[in-house]
Amino acid sequence: MELKDYIYFDHSATTPLDPRVREAMAPFLDQHFGNPSSLHTPGRVAREAVECARGQVAHLLGAQPNEIVFTASGTEANNLALTGVAEAIGFHDCHFVVSAIEHPAVLETCRYLQDRGIEITTVLPDADGVVAAEAVASALRAETRLVSVMAANNVTGVVQPIEAIADAAHNGGAWFHTDAVQAVGKRSFNLAQQPIDLLSLSSHKIHGPKGVGALYIRQGIPLQPVIHGGGQERGLRSGTENVASLVGLGRAAELAALEMPEETTRLRGLRDRIIQFTRERVPGAYLVGHATQRLPGHVCLGFAGLEPKAIQVLLALDEAGIAASSGSACSSNHAGEPSSVLRAMGFDPIRARGSLRITLGRGNTEAEVERFLDVLASIVSDLRKGSMDSRS
Ligand code: PLP
Repeated sequence: MELKDYIYFDHSATTPLDPRVREAMAPFLDQHFGNPSSLHTPGRVAREAVECARGQVAHLLGAQPNEIVFTASGTEANNLALTGVAEAIGFHDCHFVVSAIEHPAVLETCRYLQDRGIEITTVLPDADGVVAAEAVASALRAETRLVSVMAANNVTGVVQPIEAIADAAHNGGAWFHTDAVQAVGKRSFNLAQQPIDLLSLSSHKIHGPKGVGALYIRQGIPLQPVIHGGGQERGLRSGTENVASLVGLGRAAELAALEMPEETTRLRGLRDRIIQFTRERVPGAYLVGHATQRLPGHVCLGFAGLEPKAIQVLLALDEAGIAASSGSACSSNHAGEPSSVLRAMGFDPIRARGSLRITLGRGNTEAEVERFLDVLASIVSDLRKGSMDSRS
């Protein structure tokens, strides 16, 4: 099967580049190659493009352009937020609170900071995958400086009550960071009004190019750089700017802002069709994570008794030309291992290994969803009859 005929339902892993984004980027891969730090005309053209992109990202978030620092990924934005605060305030008598369901870009950074002396408390979600503000509040201490809880989880799609969590953090005297890599473009932000101090995003999750991200830093939040050099990005992220990709991120942000209301309604409809069909027509299917507090295009499913065969479901879908994902891991290095997110929600190791993640995006159609549902029902039925055992 040619890739163009493939049904792509893995938008939480990455999204295809929107042709309108590609079009905006093209001149900056070609004639507009100047270095934005140069004073001559080609340099000034590149600088203008970078600042335009900054404005577009700020607009999507309801922030000021000077509160946006560009990075090379969502991972780097998370590293800069956590390590940057730690470097600014010092590593001793300093306590951070994070949730147990954060992306490794946060959890591994916390492990690194812990080795350097920061105390870390990890808060568990409830059985629906929701991190309660009360649980965060009770983890706060006098020396807590930062709370970090993601805006939406990449495995379950569960949207977190970040405003309530941020209020709890502020009441305890701590700043609040959110990894919004999965949420930006799918839920609206107005950071001028919301109690969020730091927010990470990634371009390739919103139909922009890979290898570029941003960190929103509310004015007045102390932060030291983690990458040192020529002082770009107000000294917070040195390195010559990836101009074409930043132009792509800017255009992707602009399109997300324009199209979000209609697109999220459309995706919600497709998502709910999958949830309803599987509930009614696929024996033993269950939804993982909160039923309604979830991203518009995100479904995470388990199939009772078939959890050890989740990889077979994925491979059979792939054979039928449908790309979905296992909920069990965020990197191919860990494929087949129990998901730490589902374990934190109280799933036993077998069930935590066996979920199927379907994440819809721009370009997915009703017809694709119907085809997927037919194929899925028949794969699950074959597995239940044992007629696919030869695939194991
Ligand atoms: N945070 C979350 C919640 C993610 O889902 C991801 C990527 O999957 C990242 C951070 C990392 O973003 P990037 O791929 O831009 O490094």
